[in-house]
Amino acid sequence: MKPFVPKLVYFEPEALSYPLGKELYEKFMQMGIEIRETTSHNQVRGIPGETELARYRNAKSTLVVGVRRTLKFDSSKPSAEYAIPLATGCMGHCHYCYLQTTLGSKPYIRVYVNLDDIFAQAQTYIDERAPEITRFEAACTSDIVGIDHLTHSLKKAIEFIGATDYGRLRFVTKYEHVDHLLDAKHNGKTHFRFSVNSRYVIRHFEPGTSSFDARLQAARKVAGAGYKLGFVVAPIYRHDGWEQGYFELFQELARQLEGVDLSSLTFELIQHRFTKPAKRVIEQRYPKTKLDLDESKRKYKWGRYGIGKYVYRDEEARELEETMRSYIARFFPSAQVQYFT
Ligand code: SF4
Repeated sequence: MKPFVPKLVYFEPEALSYPLGKELYEKFMQMGIEIRETTSHNQVRGIPGETELARYRNAKSTLVVGVRRTLKFDSSKPSAEYAIPLATGCMGHCHYCYLQTTLGSKPYIRVYVNLDDIFAQAQTYIDERAPEITRFEAACTSDIVGIDHLTHSLKKAIEFIGATDYGRLRFVTKYEHVDHLLDAKHNGKTHFRFSVNSRYVIRHFEPGTSSFDARLQAARKVAGAGYKLGFVVAPIYRHDGWEQGYFELFQELARQLEGVDLSSLTFELIQHRFTKPAKRVIEQRYPKTKLDLDESKRKYKWGRYGIGKYVYRDEEARELEETMRSYIARFFPSAQVQYFT
């Protein structure tokens, strides 16, 4: 697929006092994209659209260039000590995406130009924990790879972490636009993961993202560039024929990765889950979705802030985990499964 190009761009005036802000302004001017001003990236007004749905769709192709003022990083991630904030929002239309609820009424895509401040904060966290390793996740609130061809912020973050002793970077993507990252000086400190799924899930629930084959081609390139490679299988979803669907996924992964050095390959396994607020939003935004959000078929798991999640019942979750682990053992015997959740 073609790399993402926004239809409309907003700038915070202050963003123009940073080199990346200026560079992006020039770039979008030359591309002939409409540019508007916004006083704050947290409060963008006037995104066009007659209905809420139309405004939502337009917001997903609107880019907002701003200055990140909250420099405290979120630290509640299972796979990393901190989330490094390079961008917020995504142009994809995955029906199950948790950003639908976490970003609420602000689904537009925000990128931050004060990278030096963000990296200085990351360095502080690294120093506090040294000589322990500090891991940063760059894809908690966006699919950063899919946006990065415009900003190269991720590339700079890869090189920043590559130059540290105790920092590590990780992110996950459904996009194929990795070419500019291949020559980044990562020094083996970045863990590059691709999100993959059964053919059924990709076809029905992941519009607006790269195809499976394109993701795999990108994965080959990334492995060739010496990055540590991983796959996040998420959300693992019990559709009709899921056993066969996921079998084919791993079979196809093995086929397409033939000849690639997989000695440090990892898998992360995440079963499908949803919250009640997410269900409401999904039904509004993707009213024809086939996604099964029937609470009565699930187990309720208490969550933080009183918002519990609906996950598969124990028996079904166990079956999912055992099946995925058996496929991985068969096709990738030396890979490490980091977790099932
Ligand atoms: S690609 Fe990732 S971040 Fe983007 S919509 Fe899909 S699940 Fe959400």
